[in-house]
Amino acid sequence: MNLLCWYENKPLPEAAEAEERLYPEGIHGALAQLFRQEPDCRVRTAVMQDPDFGLSDELLNWADVVVYFSHKHWREVPDERVDALQRRVLEGMGLVLLHSSHASKIFSRLMGTRTQILRWRENDEWQRVWLVAPAHPIAAGLNGEFFVIPQDETYGEYFEIPQPDEQVFLTTAQGGEVLRSGCCWYRGQGRVFYFSAGHETYPVYYQPEVRRILLNAVRWACPASRRSSWPDWARETEPLDAAPLS
Ligand code: ZN
Repeated sequence: MNLLCWYENKPLPEAAEAEERLYPEGIHGALAQLFRQEPDCRVRTAVMQDPDFGLSDELLNWADVVVYFSHKHWREVPDERVDALQRRVLEGMGLVLLHSSHASKIFSRLMGTRTQILRWRENDEWQRVWLVAPAHPIAAGLNGEFFVIPQDETYGEYFEIPQPDEQVFLTTAQGGEVLRSGCCWYRGQGRVFYFSAGHETYPVYYQPEVRRILLNAVRWACPASRRSSWPDWARETEPLDAAPLS
């Protein structure tokens, strides 16, 4: 499995110190470290400051799955790179979108809605992540009905996403909000998973349950087989069986 960990890499001034302490190699670096523990994963990282915004055709053609973390600078990713990402998803590449990537252009493009719409609050609140599809592969290895993230940013409904094809997690926050927090969609030949946890000033991506979810998510999103080309489905066709019914 070829995995590309992509990060916006422009910490907000108020978050920079905590982020540097928690994720000295950047969020992309911490994620890459996790995935590199898997013997069958080849992992590369990219950031918005790289050529082609870290989303070059070469990288996207290489990747089976992109793990994507964007934040306030989501508008800076050019539409042409969003087109390329979308095309690769439709061709079968997996996409795992984390936390503030809810606002990203690529998420909105793939969903057809204003995915940046939700409520939020940074208030050190606990989050209770409920398993609402315990048999789903992304929930594999998690025990119990829920787990608790001791502190994270609170996100809440209404979240403007289409109803997920598979709803895996629901999160309730200390302050009372609820969020569809772990959601799967199929788009073309590709698979998309959004997971809301992981504000950059909390050590969320070191929590064992969250790491289990991330490892499961990239496996779920990875195409079962790699095809160099798909059939030309969009064409006018002759009948397969010409004999008339007698
Ligand atoms: Zn956040």
